Amino acid sequence: MSAGVPVLAILGGGQLGRMLGLAAARLGVRCRFMDPADNAVAGHVGEIIRDSFEAPARLDEFVRGASAVTYEFENVPAALAERIAAMGVRIHPCPLALRTAQDRLLEKQLFRRLGIGTPDFEAVDTFEAMRAAVERIGLPCVVKTRRYGYDGKGQAVVREPGDLIPAWNLLQKGVPGAHVIEPPAVPLIVEGFVPFDRELSVLAAGGAGGAADERVYPLTENRHEGGILRISRGPAPGLSPALQAEGEAIARRVGEALGYVGLLAVELFQVGERLLANEIAPRVHNSGHWTMDGAVTCQFENHVRAVMGWPLGDASARGCSAMVNLIGSHPPAERLAAIPGVHLHLYGKQPRPGRKLGHLNVVGDSQQEREARLEVVLKAISG
Ligand code: AMP
Repeated sequence: MSAGVPVLAILGGGQLGRMLGLAAARLGVRCRFMDPADNAVAGHVGEIIRDSFEAPARLDEFVRGASAVTYEFENVPAALAERIAAMGVRIHPCPLALRTAQDRLLEKQLFRRLGIGTPDFEAVDTFEAMRAAVERIGLPCVVKTRRYGYDGKGQAVVREPGDLIPAWNLLQKGVPGAHVIEPPAVPLIVEGFVPFDRELSVLAAGGAGGAADERVYPLTENRHEGGILRISRGPAPGLSPALQAEGEAIARRVGEALGYVGLLAVELFQVGERLLANEIAPRVHNSGHWTMDGAVTCQFENHVRAVMGWPLGDASARGCSAMVNLIGSHPPAERLAAIPGVHLHLYGKQPRPGRKLGHLNVVGDSQQEREARLEVVLKAISG
């Protein structure tokens, strides 16, 4: 590394790390990544230290000379984040935020403590406790593993009593069967099923200057397919000032409670004019990819600014944006690049079913123009 160039060390070298690296490069900051994979795609934009998160052998090398450490996915062991903090290295978001986001129970307890609405919930460790929780909360319910769930994995919907055993067995062993599998049990959480009108997220950047040092993006509307985010619209269509204010208040309360520095995402359900919080992500988030082309300062740049202790950038939207994820496979890059008005972001990954390979952003001057451009994009990628 050249002398005098600030270094940001990032745990994880996937596409989020890669986009952080690109944003950091514009600011004259060089990124160094730690990842166990031999072909991590952030390697195209920075040095990769190939190491295991569980028992890293090259931790000193990873943090050497770094102004700060951050992470790009939430399954980095919290113990590793704590170890880095104990070395006296600046790490953001703080290990407490990481620990909280890794456990759906801690997240929901935090929301409850802060007076933020959530689905009704109860933690359960046995089949009998699960049955009792479902009875108390009422059908339908969603049962989730407390840890390691993503993209709709690690959860099952219980619509009728006959779904209880298959749901339990699916979450315990990955195979539904006729008999209850007991113990040792994977800890679960039972949640009331929310008949939401739509899913939203709020993204906020917390700066190093304390509670008031925060920039909140306009709320984003998110559409999933097969449990994976497919389309985001930012600002969310028809977003009222009252809903924006409620989303901002949620992000602010969570940020303050955790002493949060960096980009925070809170996933929300909109029910009428109310927002219920589902979960937090202590990192840059797929639902914020539209900000790369549709906000004054994108989420990646604001995360880098925040964790480096720099002033935050303006989080206002420029126009109305939509983001489409490219999942599993996509037309050739040249064809995508030819779509009028499209901003193409490819991650340099090998195609594989269910894999996020890139995304497309479109920006319009109005919601109508956004929809028209989005339609063109969706036609082009399905054709
Ligand atoms: P999660 O892993 O918690 O983000 O859940 C994945 C998806 O499942 C969400 O984006 C929702 O579409 C759906 N979902 C999760 N929890 C609930 C709930 N309590 N009620 C209704 N739908 C849910």
